[in-house]
Amino acid sequence: MPGGVTANIKYFDPYPIVMQRGSGAYLFDIDGNEYIDYLLSYGSLMLGHGHPKVQKALADQMQVNGTHLFGTPHQLELEMAKKLQALYPSMEKLRYTNSGTEATLLSIRLAYAYTGKYKIAKFEGHYHGGYDQMLISVNPKVDQAGPDSKPNALIESKGVDPYHQTHTIVLPFNNLEATAEILTKHKDEIAAVILEPAQSGFIPATQEFMTGLRKITEDLNIVLIFDEVKTGFRLGLGGAQSVYHISPDLTTLGKVVGGGFPVGMVGGKAEIMMTCAPSTFSDVFDHSTGKNSSAKDVLFHSGTYNGHPSILAAGIATIDVLQNEISEVMARTHRLKQELTSLFERKGLTMQTIGLGSIFNIVFTDKEVWNYRDLQQANFVLRKRLDLLLLINGLYTKPMNRFSLSTAHTDLEINRTLEIFEKALQDL
Ligand code: PMP
Repeated sequence: MPGGVTANIKYFDPYPIVMQRGSGAYLFDIDGNEYIDYLLSYGSLMLGHGHPKVQKALADQMQVNGTHLFGTPHQLELEMAKKLQALYPSMEKLRYTNSGTEATLLSIRLAYAYTGKYKIAKFEGHYHGGYDQMLISVNPKVDQAGPDSKPNALIESKGVDPYHQTHTIVLPFNNLEATAEILTKHKDEIAAVILEPAQSGFIPATQEFMTGLRKITEDLNIVLIFDEVKTGFRLGLGGAQSVYHISPDLTTLGKVVGGGFPVGMVGGKAEIMMTCAPSTFSDVFDHSTGKNSSAKDVLFHSGTYNGHPSILAAGIATIDVLQNEISEVMARTHRLKQELTSLFERKGLTMQTIGLGSIFNIVFTDKEVWNYRDLQQANFVLRKRLDLLLLINGLYTKPMNRFSLSTAHTDLEINRTLEIFEKALQDL
């Protein structure tokens, strides 16, 4: 494995830690060390590791109904869809995919198909999956990134087709005026604007920005895509759209809703979603001529594992538990943020906890942070040292990453976390 890892993000200096086991709020590495887990698999495990209700749902599904995938429509697809529709009313119709990456990819194709336009606008610093169209200006070098109000489109990886530098348009997050100007200028080319309602899950959009963005995209016939892969369930059961009271045209979900398994979902306005309906098959297969005459009129979407029953069973069990317990996760996250802020104050360190719902980050700066560029002014050297000290003292989060909480993080874990921080800050 290049770099010893299965994804580049899993690498960090001096070396990534190899885990053996997870249980509740805890991770155990192969050397026998125990950690309180705040990575939670990049926020996916909102019930912690191995929740009994998820395990039971999985066991029932596998033992009673068969381990394998049906490869056909089935009832859990509908059960999950109904649950989601109740929580995300903007999702009038939905499709399942195997990851958040596939979900955003499909959402972009839906927007292209629906509008007949073939450029996509995204925000600087926002991540939507590791494919060419979206590997633009995710983590750009500030000295090459251009003016604040008109960011350059910078390629983020070797091997990305330079074509996308001209077909992905980059916008400044939380800057409505500049965003409106760029969108207006390119309105005849831009099919959709995609965004993380909270950048990297923790830098929230302002209400004013969200309301303005909804209006301008509507006015310009641009599809508005909320990528809620991270914010879904974590900002509230109904995601960021329920917090901001904004109805996007398309929504993508992933992570939490897979109950710890690979999943993605795209949902939204029926009119847009129906571009991938193989309408009535008579449209596609013309019985009189025996030809697939109009297959090209349908947006192609496929996937052997889409709507995998075991994953949907785990996801449904997860939503059921969250419906009873989410307010406790939110309350504990709030308490942890407050106590950390006063602890850092007592230690004379300038920091902020930034984030909504059950996700936050620790940023060493006293300046306001509303976008990627603000974030770059923070002291990352200090943060990295802190992260390593936290690791050594028994708290796991990948260096520089966000902190996500789960229902398994009780007051006991929060108190222990504060003790670990106290010790780590002393050493820092
Ligand atoms: N969108 C957002 C906002 C994400 O945070 C992520 C994953 N970090 C993705 C898309 C991609 O999801 P996946 O890793 O499941 O492909």
